[in-house]
Amino acid sequence: MESLVREQIKSHEALAVDRMSAYYGQAVAVRDVSFSVPVGASVGILGPNGAGKTTLLLALAGHLPITGSYSFNGVKRRQHRPSTLRRRGVALVPQTHAVIAEMTIERNLRAAWSTGTKDTSFANAMGEVLELFPALRGRAAELAGNLSGGQRQMLAVGRGLISRPRVLMLDEPTAGLSPKLVNELVEALITLRGSGLTVLLVEQNFSAAQRACDRLHVLRDGTIRWSGAAEDLDRQTAGVLYTGEPNNERK
Ligand code: ATP
Repeated sequence: MESLVREQIKSHEALAVDRMSAYYGQAVAVRDVSFSVPVGASVGILGPNGAGKTTLLLALAGHLPITGSYSFNGVKRRQHRPSTLRRRGVALVPQTHAVIAEMTIERNLRAAWSTGTKDTSFANAMGEVLELFPALRGRAAELAGNLSGGQRQMLAVGRGLISRPRVLMLDEPTAGLSPKLVNELVEALITLRGSGLTVLLVEQNFSAAQRACDRLHVLRDGTIRWSGAAEDLDRQTAGVLYTGEPNNERK
């Protein structure tokens, strides 16, 4: 009975990371990290430059060697292949090179759709993306390279979404955006949170992560230093955790 209950709890985890470390050659950049993301939840990873946030996402997208393990939707592997993960509904919106400048908006979206789960037609999927990001509407034939920084970021997130993922991972999507665009993006993430999509959001923007996420983890030097409900982390504590001042006990 107990194991049945445990299995049921596990099956509600879209992502479960178990004592994972990630490496660049011999160098370890993420150490012994464990956390989980329930289905439909939004979880944020905060931390200073060089903390290991991008490394964590690259490892979870199957791009780096790891020790430990992680599972998506209950499928546990030591190492997952990026293409298999995409087909199973795991999408990563990277911080750089997230759109193809030489392609139109529509071709950018179609290319991303074709690598995903294809659980609906391209037209339907594109309609949903344009509903979320009005700034891209009526511009399908424009080159992505001609878009503003903010519009490009919307397109980058749109590319992640149009692959129709079950788990969407985003690497600092608010980086370089004006406060107005940060707000628009956070509003879109809040809408997505209500849609049942599972989100893992890496951010340096404290208030964006706090608004968009249910739960937060603070990473520094590749290690999780704090975990808890988003409303339980205040900016001052986050600052102390970022810099590694004393009194940064892990909660
Ligand atoms: P930022 O917010 O600046 O993007 P981050 O938290 O995403 O930082 P990472 O980019 O994951 O941090 O870097 C974590 C550590 O791994 C850093 O010490 C960094 O120098 C190192 N690192 C990152 N990329 C490589 C690489 N390709 N080869 C070797 N070391 C790397």
